[in-house]
Amino acid sequence: QRIMKDIDHKLSHDVVETAVAHNVKTIKLERLANIRSTTRTSRKNNHSLHNWSFYRLAQFIEYKAKLAGIAVEHVNPAYTSQTCPVCGHVHHANDRNYTCKCGFHIHRDILGAMNICNSTEYVGDSNIRHTA
Ligand SMILES: [Zn+2]
Repeated sequence: QRIMKDIDHKLSHDVVETAVAHNVKTIKLERLANIRSTTRTSRKNNHSLHNWSFYRLAQFIEYKAKLAGIAVEHVNPAYTSQTCPVCGHVHHANDRNYTCKCGFHIHRDILGAMNICNSTEYVGDSNIRHTA
C-alpha cells in the first residue's frame, strides 16, 4: 500500500511537471464511478478497487495541479476507449489495438487519451460522482 502511494506521488508529480513544462492550462481526467457503492457484484467490485487506486492518483494530480495554477476537469468516460475520433464509429478495441472500419488504428490507451482530450462533456470535479 505504501509503495503504491509512493508511485502515485511520483506519477502525479510527473503529470503536473509535464503539464507545467508544456504550458498546459487544464488537465482532463475521466470522471470516476461512485466508489462508495456497496451494492455491487464481485466483478464490479474488482472494478471499484481499480477505481479506488485511480481515485487516489486523481486526488494527488488535482492537489499538485492546483498548486501549479492548473485546472483539472473530469469528463464523461463513456466510450472514450471505443469511439473513433475520425468517423465517430463506436466499437470495442481488439485487445490493446483499436482498428476502425474507416482505416484509423491506434493503441487503445492513446485513443482513450485523445477522446478525453477532445471531450466537451464536462461533469464537474471529483467531489461530484454520479453513477453513469
Ligand atoms: Zn473510424
